[in-house]
Amino acid sequence: MEKIQMNVPLVEMDGDEMTRVIWQQIKDILLVPYIDLKTVYFDLGLKKRDETEDRITVEAAEATKKYGVAVKCATITPNAQRVEEYNLKQMWKSPNGTIRAILDGTVFRAPIIVKNVKPFVKTWERPITIARHAYGDIYRNVELKVEQKGKAELVFTGEDGQVVKEVIHNFGGPGILMGMHNLDGSVESFARACFSYALDQSQDLWFSTKDTISKKYDHTFKDIFQEVYDREYKDQFDAKGIEYFYTLIDDAVARVIRSSGGFIWACKNYDGDVMSDMVATAFGSLAMMTSVLVSPQGHYEYEAAHGTVTRHYYQHLKGQETSTNPVATLFAWTGALRKRGELDKLKDLVRFANTLEKAATDTIEQGVMTKDLALLAEGEKVVVNTRQFLEEINARLIKMI
Ligand code: NAP
Ligand code: MG
Repeated sequence: MEKIQMNVPLVEMDGDEMTRVIWQQIKDILLVPYIDLKTVYFDLGLKKRDETEDRITVEAAEATKKYGVAVKCATITPNAQRVEEYNLKQMWKSPNGTIRAILDGTVFRAPIIVKNVKPFVKTWERPITIARHAYGDIYRNVELKVEQKGKAELVFTGEDGQVVKEVIHNFGGPGILMGMHNLDGSVESFARACFSYALDQSQDLWFSTKDTISKKYDHTFKDIFQEVYDREYKDQFDAKGIEYFYTLIDDAVARVIRSSGGFIWACKNYDGDVMSDMVATAFGSLAMMTSVLVSPQGHYEYEAAHGTVTRHYYQHLKGQETSTNPVATLFAWTGALRKRGELDKLKDLVRFANTLEKAATDTIEQGVMTKDLALLAEGEKVVVNTRQFLEEINARLIKMI
């Protein structure tokens, strides 16, 4: 068979531990035999980040802006223990945070659905994708603990010297205080990323805040979304027959639980933090969750939502076989390849990505799976290790193409 050709390379960001092992296996078993795989390679493994003083991460993000589509392996975010383990020069920042800041992107997280793993919510039939705003609010707050009686005020001093003051509270005794902010520009980028992704996926977009209580802060989010929608996206949404729907966060939660899925739910930073773990858990497994970072200019970076699966890696280092689930990492690759195919009008590449995903979900639906899924799946099942699982996918892929 002739290999499928690519025109423009993918930006490939390699990573750490067990997912780094799986990364290579996926390429060897399921990609390189079929595709003339072109990538611009960046090693984001912790050792290389330390060697390059983390410049490699910045370069990888810049390359994503240049080429448009990236695929990323999970990476270690160093903590004190990792600084010791890897003898690091310093506690480097989270690569995902660095890349997100450079691309000014929004993260969309969506579950991979298989028939024999039933979501905890019986009505959910299609994926629910969560989009989390990744700037500001309590993640950039300023806090105070008040120890005595006194007056707390919110003060803004304009560049022109104008001062605006609001009393927050007259404290009669000890208490707590918090100041937080967001930026119109950041909310606008978030809105654009959400509307673009909804068009890309042909799915409705929901957005929720608490604007009835927060009449300026949350209301601004609501207003900006509406303005951006009316000005730039309404016609395109109408043409695709999809909808933009705004509701209060508590109403949204109730509707999400009763829904059958199949939409994108945009959330403010904190809501997204909480709701994405709720939705991921309710769908079954973090190992079946994909994640894509979309910039307002339409650059895409695909990855798995889980980490480097450290516990399994330590087993692997002892020479033990592990049954680590490679599906989310595989779907990061297929997502990136499909997007590359769409952008470059390469039908074969798009078809290959779709077929490979089908081969993977078929494998699980036919009862062959890794250990994590066997604990959740219904019906007959055969538990295999990671390599055997990838070989089983390959056997089905061969039959399908
Ligand atoms: P993790 O790697 O997601 O793993 C936590 C546990 O979840 C695993 O021990 C395993 O449970 C289960 N699990 C996750 N993915 C799995 C898979 N594909 N197959 C089977 N089981 C899976 O989270 P962590 O252990 O908290 O973090 C490890 C490292 O990853 C950290 O250094 C962290 O900084 C990094 N991290 C990176 C990213 C990213 O790059 N996007 C995201 C999160 C964390 P059992 O042990 O019960 O089998
Ligand atoms: Mg969280």
